[in-house]
Amino acid sequence: MESLLNRSWIEINLSALENNVRKIKAALPQGTTYIAVVKADAYGHCMPQSVIRFLKGGADMFAVANMYEVSRIRELVSSKPVLVLSPILPAERKLVFEYDAIPAISTAEEAMDFDTLARERGRILNLHVKIDTGMGRFGVWHEKAVPFLREISQYKNLRLAGIFTHLSSADCDEAYTHGQIANFKRVIDEFGAQNIMIHLHASAGLNYIKSGAPFNAVRVGLLQYGISPFGGERQAIAQVEPVMSFKARIASTSRTPQRSIATVSAGFADGVPSNFSKKACVLIRGKRCPIIGNVSLDETIVNIDAVPDAREGDEVVFIGSQGGEFIDLPSYSRWTRRIPWESMVAIPKRVARQTRA
Ligand SMILES: *Cc1c(COP(=O)(O)O)cnc(C)c1O
Repeated sequence: MESLLNRSWIEINLSALENNVRKIKAALPQGTTYIAVVKADAYGHCMPQSVIRFLKGGADMFAVANMYEVSRIRELVSSKPVLVLSPILPAERKLVFEYDAIPAISTAEEAMDFDTLARERGRILNLHVKIDTGMGRFGVWHEKAVPFLREISQYKNLRLAGIFTHLSSADCDEAYTHGQIANFKRVIDEFGAQNIMIHLHASAGLNYIKSGAPFNAVRVGLLQYGISPFGGERQAIAQVEPVMSFKARIASTSRTPQRSIATVSAGFADGVPSNFSKKACVLIRGKRCPIIGNVSLDETIVNIDAVPDAREGDEVVFIGSQGGEFIDLPSYSRWTRRIPWESMVAIPKRVARQTRA
């Protein structure tokens, strides 16, 4: 049977994904626990396939945002711990036991509720405590953290398995980041944490890891998908390879003496941003072709003056390489004033996913 040609698709290079984990692990202090962050369908990279390859690359543990994501990981992997980074709603808390998840808590109310649920089930629940060292999102404020941690240690059916915090500005503000790290270390020292996971570094924060101690785990998202959080301004701790390409095809061409244009078979319903800046372009036959006019629901118009032989069916690259040319995800993101995380997760289900071993 003829396979139906996709009009728009993303390609996911799974061996690059696996190698990225190896490279990042190699750059970390010996013995660091590698927590692969796979929320939001592995940042749009097909969670099931990605999880399998992260395991091959050496991931020790996974992190997601909610219980639905835990349940999907559990269809594939039963043996690895899964940490839930965001607060778990009261009605979802029972599921933590069903799916063997590790909640991250930061309030006395959560502690009491989880302790009761664990006792009813005759279980001891492992959990991590999230501390706010200056991000201002959720977490127990660092100045109140030590009494909270002591309180948690009193519950008979809870086991404090980890303490963590999140850096807000590791990509852009060194002084603030050092302040957050100092706040966190003070909590760890004063509480006297022993034999538990202590983690703070996400992709941008990895540059601050140095010798490691007291940190013994990292939570890696963006960088393992092959994108530096620094947008080319600074080296990340490992030379990673891009994983995701985004492509479509020329659906029709029109040439007049004034100009040549192509209609490309992907529009904003395929995740092509409707607010591309004037610099934005795609690759056709290895040449950069500017996007012109407004992106419509199913199509995007590009100027093909640079490729006189371009024709219907030709591959069009929004993100990725073609010939010797390359459009990286950070450039694509800058053209639309998005951050790379947003570009990765903004490509909808309509767009076919092709994984490459
Ligand atoms: C999403 C998330 C991460 C991963 O961050 P990256 O910058 O993508 O590496 C780490 N920690 C927490 C708490 C997160 O929510």
